[in-house]
Amino acid sequence: MEAPQYKRVLLKLSGEALAGKKGFGIDNGVVSDIAQAIKKISDRGVQAAIVVGGGNIFRGRTGEGMDRTTADHMGMLATVINSLAMRSALEDVGVDTRVQTAIEMKAITETYIRLRAMRHLEKGRVVIFGAGTGNPYFSTDTAAALRAAEVDAEIILLAKKVDGVYDKDPSEDPSAVKFDRLTYLDVLSRNLKVMDSTATSLCMDNNIPIRVFSLEDPNNILRVVNGEDIGTIVKGE
Ligand code: UDP
Repeated sequence: MEAPQYKRVLLKLSGEALAGKKGFGIDNGVVSDIAQAIKKISDRGVQAAIVVGGGNIFRGRTGEGMDRTTADHMGMLATVINSLAMRSALEDVGVDTRVQTAIEMKAITETYIRLRAMRHLEKGRVVIFGAGTGNPYFSTDTAAALRAAEVDAEIILLAKKVDGVYDKDPSEDPSAVKFDRLTYLDVLSRNLKVMDSTATSLCMDNNIPIRVFSLEDPNNILRVVNGEDIGTIVKGE
């Protein structure tokens, strides 16, 4: 088997991905399958940092009748619930894992400290970054871009329900066409549903490539790390 293509990656898991077919909450079977796949890359010596979303539990913009900041705080707490589920599943398969949150929760998690996170990664531990950026009005995609830049990840692995980026929503329009490669500016100017514009701009400014692929088969994580050209790659020119 060839050496992995990357030494350090940032894996972004949407909250939806953890809900599996249930569409809401956490499907332990799915989380366990994802953990097995992460173990495979970790066993191959790839350092993995993870940002987990919260959309399977709560999204700030859906908090009707509530002020946005409070709703976003609830969304960030949802990401911590998911982070703990992911840590538990990773520990179950024997992967040393730490959760670091952007909001202090001393009794439950470590607080995010960049150098400590880097140290965990160097020791082969998986680090899960919970509570997004710690700020309302941001998304976990932006947290993924920010943490990837901070810990020098070579790429963001954006695991989604769909197998790449399409020109239209493939679940609504069967004529939708998948892109193999895009530039950040394509994503921004065509308003493609990859990441929100804040996250995309941050990746563009810091030249962090993003590979979008489906988590339907969690082993896709391994395929991407091995350099297989699946899904859609977003990068500069
Ligand atoms: N959130 C936030 N600041 C952040 C990251 C997340 O306020 O830096 C909140 C926001 O309300 C968001 C929710 O957490 O809707 C869940 O995150 P996201 O929607 O990104 O999760 P995903 O869609 O990836 O499951």
